[in-house]
Amino acid sequence: MSQQHLVVVVGAGPAGIYGTRKLVEAGHHVVLLNRDIKPGGLAEYGIFVDKEKMKTGLRKQFKKILADPKVFYLGHVTVGANQALTLDALKAMGFGAVVVTAGAQGTKKLGIEGEDAVGVYHAKDVVYHYNSLPPFSQRTFEIGRRVAIIGMGNVMVDIANWLLNHKKVDQVVVVARRGPLEKAYDDSEFKYIDMYLDNADMKQEIERISSHLTAVGQDVEAIKTKFIGQGEPLEGRKLTFRYLYSPIKVIANDQGRVAGLEAEQNIMILQDGKTVAKGTGTTQRIDVDSVIYAIGDQVDASLGLPFSRGAFVTNPEKLPGDPNPAAYQPYNPELKSPLEGIFVAGWSRNASVGLVGVAKQDAERGMKVVNAYLAQKPDSSAGEMEMKVEALIERLKSNGVSPVTKEDIELLEGAEQEEARARKTWDFKYTSDDKMIEVIAARKAAR
Ligand SMILES: Cc1cc2nc3c(=O)[nH]c(=O)nc-3n(C[C@H](O)[C@H](O)[C@H](O)COP(=O)(O)OP(=O)(O)OC[C@H]3O[C@@H](n4cnc5c(N)ncnc54)[C@H](O)[C@@H]3O)c2cc1C
Repeated sequence: MSQQHLVVVVGAGPAGIYGTRKLVEAGHHVVLLNRDIKPGGLAEYGIFVDKEKMKTGLRKQFKKILADPKVFYLGHVTVGANQALTLDALKAMGFGAVVVTAGAQGTKKLGIEGEDAVGVYHAKDVVYHYNSLPPFSQRTFEIGRRVAIIGMGNVMVDIANWLLNHKKVDQVVVVARRGPLEKAYDDSEFKYIDMYLDNADMKQEIERISSHLTAVGQDVEAIKTKFIGQGEPLEGRKLTFRYLYSPIKVIANDQGRVAGLEAEQNIMILQDGKTVAKGTGTTQRIDVDSVIYAIGDQVDASLGLPFSRGAFVTNPEKLPGDPNPAAYQPYNPELKSPLEGIFVAGWSRNASVGLVGVAKQDAERGMKVVNAYLAQKPDSSAGEMEMKVEALIERLKSNGVSPVTKEDIELLEGAEQEEARARKTWDFKYTSDDKMIEVIAARKAAR
């Protein structure tokens, strides 16, 4: 006999939505709570603005999953401590299970002097800004002409893409602790910024660090062949790299704005076969007027799950099974026990790791664990589930929160598509929550 339960999923990014599909396929009903008005998470508000095919493809898939009558989408609802809805309150309402797929919303800092100067930003905030996610879409980002990006992954490439192609800054300086071979970005992504690479500067930079590369057994000539291209940077806008540097201080001017970055020069050593950066004590000033940290994110501790070193604590016990159920169970290290009926998946389980496909796979594995947990519990009736959804909506309303439903999202998207057509562009987004709510209300009134 098919089992049915009402499951609450917190976060409607790729992990939450693909996870919902697996729960629904197993016969369960899902209440999908989402901080943002619109679903999609970083697929909507992270993936680069002009990746039309990828974004529209994902939107279509998400829409289909959300259209299932067993899915209740409640957008513009943030779960967490000091919010209208806490995880404890959700637990007390007696849902079959609570699944946290809220991504990695906390930001990491380097903890260096001067990092609160005007002009220092986290990549995620910048990415949310140019992808039109309120309130970041409404904030001013004081980006100058010469911008340092700290970190060497795909997010660095996206930020450099935005700075060079859209903001048309004069120079982007990528600052990396280790050398060219330790890059974390994909070559297929680098093509978006390759035309700005200052090849003469790259040659000098590789020559500057060549003895350190040789010291760890790296082939300097092969590195030159791979990383030095031909030609001048397009339209004079330059992309340069400063390898083997760790930032130690943001230098601010007397108005508190970024005037430069002080970085310690590193060497590389081999540890267990891996290259590790080691400071030399020698410092160098890099002249930039803005700094963006693209060093990955951490989970949001205010969600209220046990938290340690940027991650939610999961059950350290290695339980049998594929997937290992323990990895999806939040764990209280003081009581030495997993939290009953709560699960984590996607970037909430493994912050800033992998593309959409990885978050999807993680959620699908996690939902196998959730479905196995639910199979041991007595069934819920359709009437009981309906009453619980109503009670949740009532609770939100009495706490001053008016959730946005999937019907509201349809109206909003309809209005945005009309606006996009009128502007002869493939995509248009309203950039404030108030405007989105106003548009939904106007469409409802006009029906
Ligand atoms: C800059 C950038 C570019 C990327 N580009 C690509 C790309 O080109 N291709 C690709 O395949 N992958 C890309 N990725 C990776 C991809 O976006 C992630 O793998 C994926 O989005 C992670 O999914 P998730 O559901 O775990 O988290 P998220 O996508 O972050 O979704 C989390 C959801 O939870 C909600 N939420 C957060 N906190 C709460 C709360 N307290 N209460 C309720 N809801 C909450 C949010 O509103 C959001 O909808 C990119 C990532 C970044 C950062």
